[in-house]
Amino acid sequence: MKKQSTIIAVVNQKGGTAKTTTVENLGIGLSRQNKKVLLIDTDPQASLTISLGYPRPDDLELTLSDLLNGTISENPVALDEVLIHQQEGIELIPSNISLAGLEVSLVNTMNRERILKQFLEPLRERYDYILLDCMPSLGMLTVNALAASDATLVPVQANYLSAKGLEQLLSTINQVKRQINPKLCIEGILITMVDARTNYAKDISNLIRNTYCNKITVFKTEIPRSVRAAETSAEGKSIFAYDPSGKVAEAYESLTQEVLKYDQKRN
Ligand code: ADP
Ligand code: MG
Repeated sequence: MKKQSTIIAVVNQKGGTAKTTTVENLGIGLSRQNKKVLLIDTDPQASLTISLGYPRPDDLELTLSDLLNGTISENPVALDEVLIHQQEGIELIPSNISLAGLEVSLVNTMNRERILKQFLEPLRERYDYILLDCMPSLGMLTVNALAASDATLVPVQANYLSAKGLEQLLSTINQVKRQINPKLCIEGILITMVDARTNYAKDISNLIRNTYCNKITVFKTEIPRSVRAAETSAEGKSIFAYDPSGKVAEAYESLTQEVLKYDQKRN
């Protein structure tokens, strides 16, 4: 049988939960384990594109919105004209603000929830992993990402309101699973921005673990809060290149191993 990539949507409707940081560092973590990895920026704010070394995404001539428009109009744009080969080994489909316009026009498109899925279908033989960086909303682009994915990974900040906000997200994921994509599973909740010096972070972590332990995997790995992680965005490289011996690199390495193990079990 031909190789089929595992497609993972990194999703949370809250901003600032480390979705983009996780897509970047998990993606590069997987590529360091000799996996062929494609990252897709599905956020019109283009944080992933910026973090991977393109500080002016609106100057890019071709992005994800052109590829999706090509799928809608059955007049495909060549992937190689859009694909960025990043120096640390991953490939990126960038985005920019034009994706916001596409999201609006999707409303009147046939099969509007499945455009991204349709676009990705022929790519599944080319990559081991395709990671989708989602925008902070549960709009049409996020629904497209969920419809196209095998699994979701949900980063949650270690604070009380973030933990509470999970309910709405999990109910949306279940709704997409029931109505559009029955094979969609929740690969796991990832607790991020953990301040190891406080008991409070431990309490939140325990709250999340106790609430979901019977239903959903909560990754053993927690991502510590560190200014080094925040600095990587401006550097255009991953934590593995920027601070290889730091605790955040260690955490993303350990998350990579958990994801690899999980997928072995599933396949
Ligand atoms: P999202 O995509 O969910 O909005 P980001 O990945 O963009 O979240 O992260 C939000 C902000 O927090 C960014 O400025 C990022 O650099 C910073 N950040 C991400 N991970 C960490 C961390 N482990 N420690 C401290 N800051 C972080
Ligand atoms: Mg983001």
